[in-house]
Amino acid sequence: MTSQLLDASEQIATGARSACHRLLYLYRKHKWYVENPSVVACYNELVQLEFGEVRARFKLRASSAIFTALEQCQECIEITSEDNIIQYVNPTFEGMMGYQREELIGKELTQMPKSDKNKADLPDTINSYIKKGKEWQGMYYGRKRNGDSIRQNVRIMPVIGQGGKIRHYVSIKTPCNENKADTAGFSDRLQVESQTEICTSKYKGRRKSSDVRSNTSRGSDGSNQARRSSIARIHSMTIEAPITKVINIINVAQENSSDGVAEALDRVLEILRTTELYSPQLGNKDEDPHTSDLVDGLMSDGLRKLSGNEYVFTKNAQLSLSHLPVSTSLNDIPPRITELMENEQAWDFDIFELEAATHKRPLVYLGLKTLSRFGVCEYLNCSESTFRSWLQVIEANYHSSNSYHNSTHAADVLHATAYFLNKERIKQSLDRTDEVAALIAAIIHDVDHPGRTNSFLCNAGSELALLYNDTTVLESHHAALAFQLTTRNDKCNIFKNMERNEYRILRQAIIDMVFATEMTKHFEHVNKFVNSINKPLAGLEENGIGGGRSNEDSFSFILSSTDNRTLIKRMLIKCADVSNPCRPLQFCIEWAGRISEEYFAQTDEEKQKGLPVVMPVFDRKTCSIPKSQISFIDYFITDMFDAWDAFADLPNLVQHLGTNFKYWKYLDEQNLSSLRPPPEQ
Ligand code: AMP
Ligand code: ZN
Repeated sequence: MTSQLLDASEQIATGARSACHRLLYLYRKHKWYVENPSVVACYNELVQLEFGEVRARFKLRASSAIFTALEQCQECIEITSEDNIIQYVNPTFEGMMGYQREELIGKELTQMPKSDKNKADLPDTINSYIKKGKEWQGMYYGRKRNGDSIRQNVRIMPVIGQGGKIRHYVSIKTPCNENKADTAGFSDRLQVESQTEICTSKYKGRRKSSDVRSNTSRGSDGSNQARRSSIARIHSMTIEAPITKVINIINVAQENSSDGVAEALDRVLEILRTTELYSPQLGNKDEDPHTSDLVDGLMSDGLRKLSGNEYVFTKNAQLSLSHLPVSTSLNDIPPRITELMENEQAWDFDIFELEAATHKRPLVYLGLKTLSRFGVCEYLNCSESTFRSWLQVIEANYHSSNSYHNSTHAADVLHATAYFLNKERIKQSLDRTDEVAALIAAIIHDVDHPGRTNSFLCNAGSELALLYNDTTVLESHHAALAFQLTTRNDKCNIFKNMERNEYRILRQAIIDMVFATEMTKHFEHVNKFVNSINKPLAGLEENGIGGGRSNEDSFSFILSSTDNRTLIKRMLIKCADVSNPCRPLQFCIEWAGRISEEYFAQTDEEKQKGLPVVMPVFDRKTCSIPKSQISFIDYFITDMFDAWDAFADLPNLVQHLGTNFKYWKYLDEQNLSSLRPPPEQ
């Protein structure tokens, strides 16, 4: 506006000079100026015009823009006259205080109901500053129309008008939550000079915006400039992050809610500000050492101190095609294996029998059969022999010496994955790419697993932990190695005929699923699934909340979004990965024995090498396997399979889970710590 004014006065002055020479009457909007031959007199007349009428007109012209800004402003603005009569409040103010503008304008501030929560001398203190033309900023309790007190950050600025006198006071207010720790002694910190940093952390995002402005209007030294731009950056960053949007929405809701609701929302905000949003907090860890050990062992990622001991990662030779035994084809599978695999689509399929019949190579056989059933070769446009070679390479890179994390576990996860993919709801939700990604992810998801947990690798300072910075170590390795093994040799590169973009999409989906098997994110994946899939679907089933759509359309609307499909795929592989407690009892017992043995071996090694013992309850001399299984099922499995069953309809799995849980309970009640009761005499 200033530059416009300058331009205008410049034009007027230029015109005036020639006007003077020609002794014209100057007519300006109903005013007559007497002809005067003196250039100086005429010039003075024009200067008066510029600083009087012209400037006033420009200001008036700008006023509707300024009012628009005030009306839209998110901060509460109140303008009073020099004698404290309310002249203007903006809609945010009306919303916060519960008044209509008409009820306030013309009222004297002293007539307005006051909150008794303010320190008795605070109004005097405020007056002592602002009446002297100084700005006041601090915390103040206002009284809403409904009588509630509201704590506000307030900034009151005297506005100097005509004759250099205070003509108005402008108050800018933002609500401020009760938080003793945050704001203790706040009201005592009266700030008189123009302040920048008086705001509780809760309102940083919003208050910073006014800070940026107040800084801008002040001095322009270099440090101020730099600070300003960094604050502006923080401001735009906090505005854009989705969590900031959520927090801002809650803040606004707090402004208009009763104290009780505002307090509840305060607690919500506290929770939202923590980073571990999805992990339940274990109460007293000492209560159940099995649970706490499993949680520490499976859900912590190198959080324990490194011991300084170097764990030499047993380097797998990364077996390649040339080292592998003679190829298998679907045509030359021994009849015994073919016969065994006839039952491959049933949940009670016996993977251990296949393991024995294939001499610990169940993955190649089951893989070939399953991938051909799902038409994966056709989808990837590659031959069965490429698939065979690929499966052989992948299987060879599983450690058959691991009691649990070997290729039989991978085959078992593949089996569960294929079983889930056949369920109606899942077929409705996922497309072909999702299906292929799920099957490949299941096959590779634990490749080259060393039989030790992430925590162990981090504690030991293993090569892998160093490579992946103690973060998602094993899962990163499984995914990275699988793609290396696949793409380094055309003979086993099942992706070689894919179009680049399709490959990128498929690769991304596979990596995401392998990463989802990391137990540190267990509750995040399960809770997101429940909130985004189970709950909306349940709502739909109960109330038909389709918003104009048919129920069928609403179902597919929820299921088909890319984000939700990702959640479904993550849940699918997670459930497949730890489905062993939902298998028929004899299989469940076998898996429990295998995982316990792997944990025992880890504890043995930790002790032998002087490393921290990650899961002390898994000591082969003292461990109660039934207790450990009860804890594992209670803590990780039951809720997850309830949610998965609600979605995919898997009553047989839930039934097995119940039976198996009772079995472990029974053993525990008999004070037995073994896998099975002793044989009857
Ligand atoms: P993954 O390493 O991908 O197989 O992730 C699954 C995790 O769950 C592993 O860390 C296993 O050790 C753990 N797990 C699976 N089954 C059981 C079980 N029955 N008891 C205890 N832990 C298990
Ligand atoms: Zn696994």
